[in-house]
Amino acid sequence: MKILVLNSGSSSQKTALFDLSPQAADPASPLWEGKLEWDGSKETITVTNSDGKKFREESRVLPEKRGSSLGKMLDQLWQPPTGLDLDRKDIAAVGHRIVHGGPRLTEPAIVTPEVKRAIASVSAIAPLHNIAGLDGIEYSEGYFPKVPQIAVFDTAFHSTLPLAAKVYPGPYEWYEQGIWRYGFHGINHAYCATRAARLLGRDLASLKTVTCHLGNGCSLAAVADGRSMDTTMGFSPLEGLMMGTRPGSLDPGILTHLLRSRQITQAELDEVLNHQSGLLGISGISSDMRDILAAVGTGNERARLAFDIFIHRLQSGIAAMAGSLAGLDALVFSAGIGENSPEIRTSCCERLAFLGIELDQTKNSLAIPDVEVSSPGSRVRTLVIRAQEDLCIAQTAMNLLSPC
Ligand code: AMP
Repeated sequence: MKILVLNSGSSSQKTALFDLSPQAADPASPLWEGKLEWDGSKETITVTNSDGKKFREESRVLPEKRGSSLGKMLDQLWQPPTGLDLDRKDIAAVGHRIVHGGPRLTEPAIVTPEVKRAIASVSAIAPLHNIAGLDGIEYSEGYFPKVPQIAVFDTAFHSTLPLAAKVYPGPYEWYEQGIWRYGFHGINHAYCATRAARLLGRDLASLKTVTCHLGNGCSLAAVADGRSMDTTMGFSPLEGLMMGTRPGSLDPGILTHLLRSRQITQAELDEVLNHQSGLLGISGISSDMRDILAAVGTGNERARLAFDIFIHRLQSGIAAMAGSLAGLDALVFSAGIGENSPEIRTSCCERLAFLGIELDQTKNSLAIPDVEVSSPGSRVRTLVIRAQEDLCIAQTAMNLLSPC
C-alpha cells in the first residue's frame, strides 16, 4: 500500500511516499521525500530516498511560473539517482493536505468536482494555502490519472468545538453565514493528543491536553476526550498566537482605523497581516526563531521584544486553553520551534508553575522527540512530540480507501 502525500504551501510543495503495507519495514519513515521551494525568482528541488540517494537542482523561474516544476520533482520518483523500483500504478492513493475545509468538509474526502468546488469556495479565507492545495490536487490528477486523490483538512479536527468556543460574539448572522472559529493545524493537534496519551500510558478519553503547534504558523488546541474543545486560530489562520510573519490576535479597531484613515489599502493590509508582521515585523530581522534567538544573544532589543511578545502570548494562550478544559493533565510542544527550542519551552513554562507545570531542565535541554520533559514531581506531564503530518495524511488516506 504505497501512498504519496502532497503538502502544498505558500512557498513550498513537499511530497513524501509511505509504504503502509503490513510487511513494510518501517511504515513511519518515508521511502522517498521531495521538496520544491521558491524564493523570489529561484526554484529549488531537493529529493532524497531511503537509501540516502539525493537529487538537487536550482533553477531560475518567472514568478508567474512558480511551482511549475512539481512534475520535475515527481519524475524523480522513477529516475536515477533517487528513483525507486516502482511505477505510477503502484501508487494506491495521493493524500493532500488542505488547510481550510470550510463549513462542509469536516471529514477526509475522496476528491470529486464537488469537493474541489467546496475547497475553492473558502480559498479567500486562507489565501496562502488553499489555492496552493487545489493546484496540487489538479496537477496530481493529471500526473496520476487513475489514482484516487484524498483531501485531508486541517480544520476538520476542530469541528467538535462547543458553540461557546466556536461562535464569534458579533451579530448572530455571522454565524449563520459560516463566519465562525474553524481552527487549523488539526492534523497535528489530533496526532499529538493521541500520541501523548500513548506515551503516558493513559486513556485518551480521560486526558485533558493542551497541544502547542509552534512552527512558522503557531496555534494551540485544548483537547479533552480526544476532541478539540478550543483552539487559538479562528476563522482564518491569522488569529491567536504571534507567528513568523503573522501577528496573531489584534484589536480589530486597529484594522478599521488603518482602512478608514486610508493609510493602507485592503490588499496592503492582507500583505502586512500575512507576510510582514509577527517575529519579522517586530524584530525587523527574520521570521525564523533561530535568528531571533541568535540576535537576542547579541543584545538586539527588537529581537528581545519579539521574543518577549511571543512568550507572553504563548503563556497566556496555554493558560486560557487550560481554562477552557477546566484542568490540565498534559502539555505537548510540537513543530519546528516546539520540538527544537529548549529556550522557548523553558521561558514559556517558567511562569506556568501555578498550573502545575514543571520542567526537568536536563531532560528539556537534551530532548529528542518523542520524549517527556517534565520533572518527576510535576503535576502536568510535558512532552515534546515530533509533528508527523505527512504520515497522518497517508494513514488517513489508507483508512478511507480500505476501512478496517
Ligand atoms: P515548521 O513550520 O514546523 O517547519 O517550523 C519552522 C520554524 O521552526 C522555523 O521558521 C524556525 O522558526 C523554527 N525552528 C526550527 N529549528 C529551530 C531551533 N533549533 N530553534 C528555534 N526555532 C527553530
